[in-house]
Amino acid sequence: MGKYIIAGNWKMNKLPSETYDFVKEVAAKNASASCEVVCCTPYVCLSEAVRAAKGTNVKIGAENLHFEDKGAFTGEVSADMLKDLGVEYVIIGHSERRQYFAETDETVNLKTKKALEKGLIPIVCVGESLDEREAGITMDLIAIQVKKAFAGISAADAAKVVVAYEPIWAIGTGKTATADQAEEVCAGIRAILAGLYDDATAKAVTIQYGGSMNAANAAELLAKENIDGGLIGGASLKADDFAVIVAAAK
Ligand code: PEP
Repeated sequence: MGKYIIAGNWKMNKLPSETYDFVKEVAAKNASASCEVVCCTPYVCLSEAVRAAKGTNVKIGAENLHFEDKGAFTGEVSADMLKDLGVEYVIIGHSERRQYFAETDETVNLKTKKALEKGLIPIVCVGESLDEREAGITMDLIAIQVKKAFAGISAADAAKVVVAYEPIWAIGTGKTATADQAEEVCAGIRAILAGLYDDATAKAVTIQYGGSMNAANAAELLAKENIDGGLIGGASLKADDFAVIVAAAK
């Protein structure tokens, strides 16, 4: 369907001083990857990550951005700042940002539009909590998140967005959604996009699964028709494990 993309989300791990060597290691282990390989790093690691990725097939992403261009927003980072560093991707609306940093569907939409306007590829995260899954409202919730994230975005721009389906109960817990559960929601997301736009746009969108994807379970998840890659937390911090996941994305 969409282009295969395996993206690591380092979260608040790894130091700037560790970044250059680690990205070089990722690049060396994935030099013949048949999918896009991305490392999303903390802001302070981005310069070193971009320096290390130069001349390799690894792309660098940030883990957040602000939706304004500039101004009195102490502690924030703009899309222009990320572009200026050579960053190509940005994670938007990760559940940890929704949970701990008051990210909402509205700010996710503003950030997604700003990323697209500035030529960054947004990786927009959506996902349900365990309570929501058990209440049987997973797809209703995902539909709201997807529709709000894409509000006001043209079909041409929508095709550039990466959607990461990340069930909150599977993130960092070691509990993975089964391949069938993940496929069901990813197929649902594609259907929502087809309804918002058209089939061709929906097919062009990369839909990733994220949530305890690792070297052991990646192949089964990535074999599913509507799973076009992964957003990888813990396993992206180990270059060997990350390379196994990349190799599984064929
Ligand atoms: C994530 O945070 O995006 C994630 C999927 O984490 P983990 O792989 O550690 O569950």
